[in-house]
Amino acid sequence: MNIIDDYFIYMSNVSSTISVPSSWEEVIERYRPLPWEDEKGFCAKWMKLWYPPPDYTWPFTRIYCNIDIHEDLTNIFNEIIYQDIVDSIETFDGCYVIRPIRGSTRWSLHSFGIALDFNASTNQLGTDGNMNEALIDIFESFGWVWGGRFRRKDPMHFQRAKGC
Ligand SMILES: [Zn+2]
Repeated sequence: MNIIDDYFIYMSNVSSTISVPSSWEEVIERYRPLPWEDEKGFCAKWMKLWYPPPDYTWPFTRIYCNIDIHEDLTNIFNEIIYQDIVDSIETFDGCYVIRPIRGSTRWSLHSFGIALDFNASTNQLGTDGNMNEALIDIFESFGWVWGGRFRRKDPMHFQRAKGC
């Protein structure tokens, strides 16, 4: 075992110091000003570019997302590297978009930059999709919710909030 392995084993046991919201109410209480009421104010306070670990080929160069998911993303992507499943991320299909949930009047968690979509072409809404099991396990180990567990399955989707 070399120093690099030790580093990744250490990283894989890190969990975020930022709590995962456990309800919609908690989300809208935390992320003020609300993005659909004051997008400039929301972005100034919460949004920042995140860069994936270098030296690997990712289907994106950076993600504009909520600062609350930066630490998790770094840990999650290091774990993806450690588990040798970099190839499981085929496409990145969006993070921050202010919009309602498709077919609903409720706001999507994408509106807060705390949700990510991957591999959309093979993981469409309402299908089982083909998301890598190990990838799902990694996100869930950090307290994220996978959309493939929703009543209306959304297997491309991962969000850092529970109960909504
Ligand atoms: Zn999504």
